[in-house]
Order: sequence, then structure tokens, then C-alpha cells
Amino acid sequence: MRVLLGSPRGFCAGVDRAVSIVESALERFGPPIYVRHEIVHNGHVLASLRERGVIFVDHLDDVPQRAIVIFSAHGVAPAVWREAEDRQLRVIDATCPLVKKVHLEVAKHARNRRTVLVIGHPEHVEVIGTVGHYEPRPGARIIVVENDDQARAVTIEDPDNVAYVTQTTLAADSTAGIIGVLKERFPHIVGPQADDICYATQNRQRVVAKLADLSDIVIILGARHSSNSVRMLEVALARSTPAYLVDCAREVKREWLTGMTTIGITSGASSPEYLVTDLLATLRAWYPDLREEAIGRPETVQFRMPRELEQTGVKQATR
Ligand code: SF4
Repeated sequence: MRVLLGSPRGFCAGVDRAVSIVESALERFGPPIYVRHEIVHNGHVLASLRERGVIFVDHLDDVPQRAIVIFSAHGVAPAVWREAEDRQLRVIDATCPLVKKVHLEVAKHARNRRTVLVIGHPEHVEVIGTVGHYEPRPGARIIVVENDDQARAVTIEDPDNVAYVTQTTLAADSTAGIIGVLKERFPHIVGPQADDICYATQNRQRVVAKLADLSDIVIILGARHSSNSVRMLEVALARSTPAYLVDCAREVKREWLTGMTTIGITSGASSPEYLVTDLLATLRAWYPDLREEAIGRPETVQFRMPRELEQTGVKQATR
């Protein structure tokens, strides 16, 4: 049996930074540290942080006044900052810089009175935060479109003054289709240079496509509610290779591998590397002559820690 180990895989720079921010806050200020929303979409990461004194909350109401609260990598709307200020919370912002870039685009389009179409999943926490950065103006609004049909049906008051942004963790292929429909319907639509799908999402999708082409089966480690992991599964399945998204090695069934000779393995952007190590250990126990080969190269991108954590402490929330 042969394993092809995809690279880059696992934590992206945004997730790595977000987890480091929580760990630094624990070290510097001690528990409890409150985090609004799951810092990253992975149950293993959350469980380990909970054990160390992190309390995850869905609403700021659940954070005691003047406590420290960290905003997750997915970003929040300005209204959440205002609420934090009202509650006199001390905020550390772990929003990924690439998500912040989308927030800035949305705010700029709002200032230019453009209607903005957000390509993404309306329930996803990143999209909710992005939509919150739009201040509606007369004749302009923000609308989420999730698929080609919605792109074909959406109505806009001023079709010559429209823009689009995208959720960072979408599948590049299907997003290109939606953008194509929008460009056909609104020839003057304004968008980012390429699209907003981040480098890490695109790299992981490229790797999983390659693994699907070279392997009999692909196993992706990641959470089922992790958008980028689910998109990776879709990319592999679209290439007609059997593929599974699993939370950890225990979910892998030996019968999946019957008759297979090459297993492609990779992991989503919120999945810690020790889950891959565990899966390899399981496979080595099943196949003592297992051969491992690396495919691709690791990423070198790194994001700086927030200045307020590097220097004096944390920022009092301000509007
Ligand atoms: S997937 Fe991309 S946008 Fe999301 S946290 Fe990672 S680097 Fe940032």
C-alpha cells in the first residue's frame, strides 16, 4: 500500500495566527479567556483550548463585563464591536487579514453606493460578518448569492452600479461559474482583481485535485462544518475518485481500502497536523509495508500577531 501525502495541508496562516492569539492570551492573562464563536471550525482544537480555560460563546451577552474576548478568524460585523464597547469588553481581534480585506472592499462599495453581491453561504459566520460591514445607502443594498440560479434571478435597482465579493473558502470552480453569470448579466460589475477565495483555500483545492488524479481513494481530515474542508471533498468527488471527509483516524473504515493500492491523504485549513500523524499510524498498523510519498510543497505564508497583543495588552473596544 502506498500513501500520497498532500502539501500544503492543515492549518493555514489565518488559523495558525488565530490559535496562537488564543494561546498567547491564555499565557499572558490566564484563564478564563472568552472567544466569540469557534475560533476555528475544528472540534479537536476547541476541546484542547477548552481544557486550558477557554470559554466559547455565541453571544457577547455571555461574556462578563470588562472581560477579555477574542473575535474568531472568521471576522465580525461592526455592530459586534459596538456591542463589545457597550459591555466594556477588552477585545483581541483574531480576524484573518484576508477576511478583513473583504470587509474593506464591502465598506468601499457601500461608500460608492454600489449594490454588493456576496458570493457565499448566507448562514456562514464569515458571510454574516461581511454583510455587516455594508452600510446601506438609498437605492443600494447587499445580497448574498449562493449558486448560479440565484445569480440568474437576483434583481438590482441600478444594474450599472453593482459589485461582488466572495467568501474566502469557496470552491474556485463553482465560484467562477457564478461570477460568469453575474458578468453576463451586469457587464459593468466591479469585483476584486481575481476573486476573494484565499490562497490557502485555492492551494488545498489544487492539492486535493492532484491527489484525486493520482490515488484510488482520497481521505481528507477536517470537520464537516468546515467550509474549506467540505469544498475539498467536493473537488475530489468531482474528479470521480472515491473520497471521504473524516474527523479523525477512528472514522476511517478498513473496508474502504479493500482493493486499493494508493491512498491520497490531506487535511483542511482548520485541521491540526497531529490528526494526519494519527491516521498514518493507523495505516502503518494495518499495512506494515506502507510506503509514503509527499506531493507538493508546504506554504511559507505567515501573518503578524495583532499589535495590541505584541505590545501592551488588549484593546478596549471602540467604535
Ligand atoms: S482559510 Fe484563508 S481566509 Fe480563512 S483563515 Fe485561512 S488564510 Fe484566512
